[in-house]
Amino acid sequence: MSDADAKPARQRFFIHTFGCQMNEADSSRMGEILVRAGWTPAERIEEADLVLLNTCAVRDKAEQKVLSALGRYRPLKVEHRAIIGVSGCIAQQEKERLLKRVPYVDFVVGPDGIPKLAEIVRRVQEERVRVSETAWVDSEAYLFPRADPESARGKVTEFVTVMKGCDHVCSYCVVPYVRGRELSRPVAEVLDEVRALVAAGVREVTLIGQNVNSYRGGASFAQLLSQVHELPGVLRVRFTTSNPHDLPDELVDAFGRLPRLMPHFHLPVQSGSDPILERMRRGHTVAHYLERVDRLRRTCPDVALTTDLIVGFPGETAQDFEATMALVERARFDNVYSFVYSPRPHTAAALHEVEWGHVPHEVKVERIERLQARVREISLGFAQAKVGKVVQVLVEGPSKTDPRKRFGRTPENRVVNFLGEAAAGTVVEVEIDRVTPNALFGQERR
Ligand code: SAH
Repeated sequence: MSDADAKPARQRFFIHTFGCQMNEADSSRMGEILVRAGWTPAERIEEADLVLLNTCAVRDKAEQKVLSALGRYRPLKVEHRAIIGVSGCIAQQEKERLLKRVPYVDFVVGPDGIPKLAEIVRRVQEERVRVSETAWVDSEAYLFPRADPESARGKVTEFVTVMKGCDHVCSYCVVPYVRGRELSRPVAEVLDEVRALVAAGVREVTLIGQNVNSYRGGASFAQLLSQVHELPGVLRVRFTTSNPHDLPDELVDAFGRLPRLMPHFHLPVQSGSDPILERMRRGHTVAHYLERVDRLRRTCPDVALTTDLIVGFPGETAQDFEATMALVERARFDNVYSFVYSPRPHTAAALHEVEWGHVPHEVKVERIERLQARVREISLGFAQAKVGKVVQVLVEGPSKTDPRKRFGRTPENRVVNFLGEAAAGTVVEVEIDRVTPNALFGQERR
């Protein structure tokens, strides 16, 4: 038997990614690891010999989505014996329990196990074992998986991980339990990765971490941002996420100081009521949040501010909710990501839900609908203000909805679909003629 014959014929993988930018970045790293181990990406999930679900545990709905996807993928196992793996936050939360609960899952791998992915898959294939790899790697030994610039070729914008984990203790949040302790990537490593991505054609980088304010990789986060900003070929820099409680002036002022740091700040506030913020253990008040926003707008008047809000947190009264609605008016968010509170394992809020007061489901739904309707109006207002104006768009490629058009983003991070010829990776002027809450439409100016 030749070497080629000895290799198993199954070769194609498909990664289904749920959740946040961290998971998207992790999925890219896992794809690269599999490619290096001889796998190729499958065009369609039905063709895959390895199906990997990279999962999210932040809300119960996210968890249910993963479980129902697993159910849908079961025939792939039955019909052509695909390997099925689960990575990410549900893997870390459930560990080997998931192997017991779902008998056709072959392996679970937590966030720190990513570098071992190829070896895990090999063991499943060759030794026919089921594997659970969810140990934390101690901080001394941890190496951040490095992005492969070759897989970024053809992409205009990329995420760059600057830290992992979260040491905050927001009482609703499962992230610290499923992502572990904070650890920062050294400055030199971040800069090297950005340089390599730029050499491969990337023009915009978004630095990501659960709370970049806690960055400790040998400089403050604002200093790291300045250094990335100075790298030749970087046209645009963004970052996410930052917590208002330990947000330093230095980082706020970066928006006034760094021309290629785009004027969009995602600053989650979660609630507009101080008693709720206190029970959320956010470590800040509404007044503190607004003080940070005022400073931001003084330094960068056109900044687009976006936020996250949780509705129906235990004990949220009608009055607390009105305070959130009032904050939405006061802060003039360009957009708001709002979520119905969902109790999560291990968290303090889940433990105290009865004592603090469960908010009935209908009340939560009524509140979130009202909130989202108002947010849509405000957000549409910001978009409408762009009609007739010329915006600077970094072109990302052909439009997803209309192949004759191109798409890109404004500095404020709004999607723009437009008629034009400009190549991906260039910044063009687009005159806006029409808007929807989710996108702007227009024509390239010549
Ligand atoms: N550190 C990240 C957190 C990511 S979770 C950040 O600050 O962005 C993203 C959002 O999900 C949070 O900001 C919060 O609004 C929401 N969220 C987190 N836990 C939740 C829960 N138990 N129920 C409802 N929404 C939640």
